[in-house]
Amino acid sequence: MKLIIHRGTHEIGGSCIELVSANSRILLDFGLPLVDSNNEQFDSKKIRGKSKDDLIETGVLPRIKGLYRDETPSFDAILLSHPHQDHYGLLSYANPRIPVYLSKGCRILVEVSHFFNQTGCELKNIETVEDGHSFKKGDFTITPFVVDHAGFDALGFLVECGGKKIYYSGDFRGHGRKSKLFFKMLRNPPENVDYLILEGTMIGRDEGQYGTEDGIETKLASLFKSENRLFFIACSSQNIDRIVSIYRACKESGRTFVIDPYTAYILDRLKEVSEKIPQATWGKTMKVFFVKSSHTDKLAGNKILYKYKSAKITYDEIREAGNRLVVKSSYYLRESFARRKLMPGSKLIYSMWEGYWDKEKDFWETNGVPFEMVHCSGHAYISELQAFAGALKPKWIIPNHTFSPEKYKEYFGRHRILQAKDGEAITL
Ligand SMILES: [Zn+2]
Ligand SMILES: [Zn+2]
Repeated sequence: MKLIIHRGTHEIGGSCIELVSANSRILLDFGLPLVDSNNEQFDSKKIRGKSKDDLIETGVLPRIKGLYRDETPSFDAILLSHPHQDHYGLLSYANPRIPVYLSKGCRILVEVSHFFNQTGCELKNIETVEDGHSFKKGDFTITPFVVDHAGFDALGFLVECGGKKIYYSGDFRGHGRKSKLFFKMLRNPPENVDYLILEGTMIGRDEGQYGTEDGIETKLASLFKSENRLFFIACSSQNIDRIVSIYRACKESGRTFVIDPYTAYILDRLKEVSEKIPQATWGKTMKVFFVKSSHTDKLAGNKILYKYKSAKITYDEIREAGNRLVVKSSYYLRESFARRKLMPGSKLIYSMWEGYWDKEKDFWETNGVPFEMVHCSGHAYISELQAFAGALKPKWIIPNHTFSPEKYKEYFGRHRILQAKDGEAITL
């Protein structure tokens, strides 16, 4: 069997890993890069309308035969680990005859993103997979494991072929709302793993001060209780762990969490995966502000918006109830609130990766709104990566999804490290 990491051996984003046996080929993830060749933030708008050949030439698409739309497909499957663009964002270029395997939550969020943003990632030929249920694809036996990550319903994959076992970690952590799964894996890991393809996002990054998703909830609840003002909170609508933490902190502090229709729709769609996911229509802890935006228009145009009418909150109600609310910020919402002078006295909680902060810092400063960072990473801390590697005891660790592959030696000294290069075929 051969392993080719097409992208990821020395960068975060654009994940794409191929496994080839005598008769079969599978692809693990097919993501959009997060950085360009100058190591600057990748601008996905720049690739619109470009041909496949152009994109291969400029290194956006990996050079892989038998994968693309204009070729006879020679892949048995594409497995998606989770619904983050850096893991599935190039899927629209793949031949739709190749079946895509993914979790139910991943399917829903990929569909949602396409519905709103025309990502081109239309799912037609798919199979949803379940935690711990093995399946065969050609020479490969694949077992998906649901893992704890900021991306919803994320998977790691154990792949077995020709007596060899490979575990692909995908993106994961041990300090989110599904941390139980992480500890379960530590207690009961797959045995005799030969190769662990291990993400290392946090290697070389600051781990922050709040530690866990529970820590975030506690911090938010204490802020909401102790400061008598309107709070805005900036977070991703698709980071369900965080939405739940905010919801719970609101409940604990007697506040109402005001979301936009886009977020309400995501929560609504995900109840198919878990009935525990809070819903806009549940009562006073959550309300929906019908912000004017293309997403709201899309929901109105598709006769979906009316579903959240019973939870609707207006500008006037927000003005009146200000210090009992936590309003989820978005570009359109913050602009419209600033125009209506709803900012004075408020505070912003920035609950996303700091790398995105530069984009909106000016806005909040101009409007005189103080801010506080309350965030924890969607990725495993070094201690969690070490515990994970220690439990799996792989013969080799292969660095992936990291900007610091050279540091693996330092942190995983007891293991042998196999440092691959992008595009290089390694015989396992
Ligand atoms: Zn990722
Ligand atoms: Zn991710």
